[in-house]
Amino acid sequence: MCRLCRRFLRDLSSLSGIPSARRPARLNASRAVSYDSQYLGRYSQSGEEAGMGMVESAPGAFELIARDDVTRARRGTVHTAHGAVPTPVFCPVGTQATVKGLAPRDLLTLEAPMILSNTYHLYLRPGADLIGELGGLHRFMAWPGPILTDSGGFQVFSLEGLRKVDDEGVTFRSHIDGSEHRFTPEKVIEIQQILGSDIAMAFDECAKPHDRAYIAEAMRRTHLWAERCLAAHSRPDQALYGIVQGGVFEDLRAESARVLSEMDFPGYAIGGLSVGESKEDMLRILDHVVPLLPDGKARYLMGVGSPEDLVEGVARGIDIFDCVLPSRLGRNGAVFTPEGRINLRNAQFRDDPRPIQEDCACYTCQHFSRAYLRHLIISRELLAPHLNTLHNVHFLLNLMSRIREAIEGDRFADLRECFWAEYRPADEVARQRNHANYRRSTGPPEGAKNERKGRTHSERV
Ligand SMILES: [Zn+2]
Repeated sequence: MCRLCRRFLRDLSSLSGIPSARRPARLNASRAVSYDSQYLGRYSQSGEEAGMGMVESAPGAFELIARDDVTRARRGTVHTAHGAVPTPVFCPVGTQATVKGLAPRDLLTLEAPMILSNTYHLYLRPGADLIGELGGLHRFMAWPGPILTDSGGFQVFSLEGLRKVDDEGVTFRSHIDGSEHRFTPEKVIEIQQILGSDIAMAFDECAKPHDRAYIAEAMRRTHLWAERCLAAHSRPDQALYGIVQGGVFEDLRAESARVLSEMDFPGYAIGGLSVGESKEDMLRILDHVVPLLPDGKARYLMGVGSPEDLVEGVARGIDIFDCVLPSRLGRNGAVFTPEGRINLRNAQFRDDPRPIQEDCACYTCQHFSRAYLRHLIISRELLAPHLNTLHNVHFLLNLMSRIREAIEGDRFADLRECFWAEYRPADEVARQRNHANYRRSTGPPEGAKNERKGRTHSERV
């Protein structure tokens, strides 16, 4: 591996010229000032007012900056009312209006360009109206940057046995208390407009990827709902993106891309992937569907965010990603390195004096050894998930930053090759097993008859 390429996989943040011992302090100090004086001051007015009039381009509009010559990778900007988002971008997920384990101050230090939050969860608790009364989602969670909200489709359709779908909408029972609720396209748009996210998503039906008959029916409904979402959407400082469905079937994906493209959304998500299909199927569908989407619009691959998926998604022309992976892994003691994941619980790290990753500029790696982090994990200390998540989110944001530089410098293909020369992803069997456990954990509400132990619904995207 050439030295230049190897460096891409290491942390080459703009801080590399600063003596390592001083990096965190300088970072935190400068960021604290900008957070208080620049960002929070913006929220002295209502969240809606804060976003108005700040966008020169239309909200959610995609601006192309550079293309890779070898792959479909592209470098661009997505414009929002709360700032420009450099793409390709990874969005940490704040399901409950918080990225688990991190304060907004941490996300600013990490220079997270945009975060994602969840319509379904915030609607159930604390309620969209409450958030609206308190100034909107940005102000409620004190996050000054861009926010993307999903439509709740993925969560609602994960509630197997607890929801009933018809062409008008979906009736479902809350995973929290079993109470009955109904989502329609109009309701989902109303909730997202009250929350005041920068990018809202159309309501879609996210079906299991291999049942062709049902997938076709769900896709038809998704198209009907997309039109109703467009008609219902009225907030001028918020973009509304459409969601392409069609499972693992290329002809259905092509039809969905064609129908939704004609509706002229400012951006398009590819939904219904990373929901149990093989990695080969996911990449095959991306190869097929991305070229069918409008070139001048942003493309968002929902719920995908492992390092290898980011690299391969970018190579296929994806601009936006989100995933709970860095925080979920961090809570379980697993952390990313350029060689792959390691689990700090393992006994081999008991007396390991090294940081998680040599040359990493994050606060965790600048201050703590693997041995200390393992001690925190074993002792169940609250600091453990924080420090692990901090590193994991930094790792993915840094990877995306290196990818953007590489595309601009026409070196993305080299970066991709070097990434695969060094990185060993979690094996496919383990990935499928984790996913199966994940799916099983999503159904029953707390207190329901068929309650199961394990991870709860609220932990998923
Ligand atoms: Zn680190």
